[in-house]
Amino acid sequence: MRTVEIAPSFEDWQAAARTLLHDGVPPAEVRWRETAHGEQRSLLTEPAPPPPSGGARVPRKFLDLAREAAVAADPTRWQVLYEVLWRLVHENRDLLDAEGDPTMRRLKALSKREGEGAAEFVPPGASLAELRAAAAKCTGCDLYRHATQTVFGLGPADARIVFVGEQPGDQEDRKGAPFVGPAGEVFDRVLAEVGLARTRLYVTNAVKHFKFVEKGKRRIHQTPRMSELTACRPWLEAELALIKPGVLVCLGATAAHAVFGADFRLMKDRGRFAPTRWADKTIATLHPSAVLRGEDETQQARLYGILLEDLRLVAGA
Ligand code: SF4
Repeated sequence: MRTVEIAPSFEDWQAAARTLLHDGVPPAEVRWRETAHGEQRSLLTEPAPPPPSGGARVPRKFLDLAREAAVAADPTRWQVLYEVLWRLVHENRDLLDAEGDPTMRRLKALSKREGEGAAEFVPPGASLAELRAAAAKCTGCDLYRHATQTVFGLGPADARIVFVGEQPGDQEDRKGAPFVGPAGEVFDRVLAEVGLARTRLYVTNAVKHFKFVEKGKRRIHQTPRMSELTACRPWLEAELALIKPGVLVCLGATAAHAVFGADFRLMKDRGRFAPTRWADKTIATLHPSAVLRGEDETQQARLYGILLEDLRLVAGA
């Protein structure tokens, strides 16, 4: 058993954890002891060696969680942190997403990041402008941490037609408005072709923060998890309750699942109106970004044709 004394700070824990990891010491063989402020290290424990340079790479999300857990009052937090770190390096790099894992649950409880969702941030009886202002401060799930800003819906409160996409993309995240990137250009083109004026529409997303992974200088879109969709749902509910659209259009599978449920099969069930509790006429079609993902021009033209066909129905509704 190795006893490790640290000052109760993330930095001290990190330095000690690096050394332990480097020496291959498993969590079960470590006893963590906190020194009080200004206290000398015990003579019974080995002086902490300088941490080795380099070392294992771990997801940034873990470091964020660890920093938050480090300020908790629970004395077992250092052990929990090291256990998660050890398992991330030796067992499972996707451990942070293992929602049922007991150690992960303890870590999230320590860091007070249970993903309670957006509900507590939604002001009751608010106008659209007030909802937008409140959503800018939402921390209902982890996605706010790395995105630039909340991208709330845009359009008049009396819009008859509401479009719901998946989540903001790279350009939307930077500009703070939905559908302004390359997918937005496809969207504008198809709207013009079917004769719908964007200024009369309300356009929003099922998830209001951009989810991505960094690859070099690029930020690659990641599909939101069901837990993130659920966390963000109160914003969409509030938007739809206020606008009460006559026609609701889901763009892509994520939006369709948020509105019609997880059983909805986009390519099979798209292009047909059905009543939902939000709108008498609710329909799903392709997300404009699906057109851009077509392998070649022929496929892109075919996908665009599907989107055009479905939005002709919307324009005529
Ligand atoms: S994605 Fe939605 S729930 Fe999560 S922080 Fe952003 S606004 Fe809040």
